[in-house]
Amino acid sequence: MDIKNNIIKIRQNIPEACTLIAVSKTHPVDVIQAAYDAGQRVFGENKAQELVAKHEVLPKDIQWHMIGHLQTNKVKAIAPFVHLIHSVDSLKLLQEINKQAQKNNRIMEALLQVHIAEEETKYGFSMEEIRALVNDGALTTLSFIKIVGLMGMATFTENKDQVRKEFKRLKRFFDELQATSLPSNMVMEELSMGMSGDYEIALEEGSTMIRVGSAIFGERHYPDKVL
Ligand SMILES: *Cc1c(COP(=O)(O)O)cnc(C)c1O
Repeated sequence: MDIKNNIIKIRQNIPEACTLIAVSKTHPVDVIQAAYDAGQRVFGENKAQELVAKHEVLPKDIQWHMIGHLQTNKVKAIAPFVHLIHSVDSLKLLQEINKQAQKNNRIMEALLQVHIAEEETKYGFSMEEIRALVNDGALTTLSFIKIVGLMGMATFTENKDQVRKEFKRLKRFFDELQATSLPSNMVMEELSMGMSGDYEIALEEGSTMIRVGSAIFGERHYPDKVL
């Protein structure tokens, strides 16, 4: 795998303003270091423990993004350093992030994950749930959180029309919220959508952050140990 070349090729394909998150889950630190040496500074992981372990040994100017489902009891471990949590899918989780952010004397940034795929298995709020959260005032007390946008995952399918339709729906919802009067700790700036197989479509539909794993690092092999 020519990691450096993969990163350069993807960068050439995407707008300057789009954030490329290199999804390094399951890959060992020497592989991440190779991407770092190629200039990549933004990495995404989907497990809190793996995120903590990699943060400890890798250069401290890396921006670590949590992109996977997060249990409330794992927030504490990543709260001191995580840059952005993409996968917030419950009020309970928002409250725990707020609590840990306060303990660390920082404002933590998060995206609300929206369920846009057909599959039942994907996590996320429904759009209706987010409208209710915004309207019922539940967010206003969370003063150590800043919600900066939305995240979504399209259905895992070869059907590009369906993927595009799902991304379009998410963008339309993003625009709807942007036009709404939102709580003071909520802005619609980032739209995290697109992975190795569908980031080109996602960018056409308005994505500002793409989460790319296998197109940079190759297939994942799920080792027992990553360090
Ligand atoms: C693994 C993962 C990705 C990256 O997937 P690739 O298809 O390898 O690019 C993106 N987003 C989330 C939430 C993931 O878990």
